[in-house]
Amino acid sequence: MYHHINCDRFSNSQEMFEQHLRYAIERFAVVVPGEKLSKEKDSLCLTFDDAYYDFYHYVFPLLKKYQIKALLAVPTALICDSTDLDPDQRMSLGHKEIYQSKNYQNYASFCTWKELREMSDSGLVVMASHSHTHKDLTLPGIDLEKEIVNSKEILEARMDTKIESFILPFGRYNHDVFTRLQKHYRYIFKVGQGVNQDFSGIRGLIYRIDGDNLQDERSIFSFGSMLGYRIKSIAKTVHDGILDS
Ligand SMILES: [Zn+2]
Repeated sequence: MYHHINCDRFSNSQEMFEQHLRYAIERFAVVVPGEKLSKEKDSLCLTFDDAYYDFYHYVFPLLKKYQIKALLAVPTALICDSTDLDPDQRMSLGHKEIYQSKNYQNYASFCTWKELREMSDSGLVVMASHSHTHKDLTLPGIDLEKEIVNSKEILEARMDTKIESFILPFGRYNHDVFTRLQKHYRYIFKVGQGVNQDFSGIRGLIYRIDGDNLQDERSIFSFGSMLGYRIKSIAKTVHDGILDS
């Protein structure tokens, strides 16, 4: 799970990210939800949250360069209709500033629909719903129909393709949220720092590993880290809840 490139938080530098990507694609088979997993090596699904413009600017060219696919989590209400701003202006805000006083509307901090459609049409970016307004879905007063069902309809109409994945905002869910999600999506993702046997996840939830703020290109794939993710996954399988994060 990654968020930004070259931002102040939840981010990696462009150089670090490309080194990390090269390290990852040598060792793993890169897949998106529903694709067959490799028999020879472990499979890796790259997921990016929130569809910031920096994804289009930095990551999409890398996906083309290395011919690999990624899953992009789109909060449909935050997507930009169109913009005349240049890339530097669009990436000039820090992570927190993007959300302050809805700055993202003035700076076009998120991708535009046109950019999303271009990436989807390339076949290299698979879109996932990341809710409509990117709120914690367990909060009182949340319109789950809008967040779960309408966000999917909007994305399907805009991308002209079927949307099968949902990435939980902040990883937050409860029984009602999860039951609704299962009705509308085949793949449901959260954070969780665990590995999965396949795309059915653990009790229907696919766990992800935090890939932001990498110390070096291989840190999250070290023996110690991988052991930690495996232990966590076993614990989640045996007894859901005790190690949740
Ligand atoms: Zn998010």
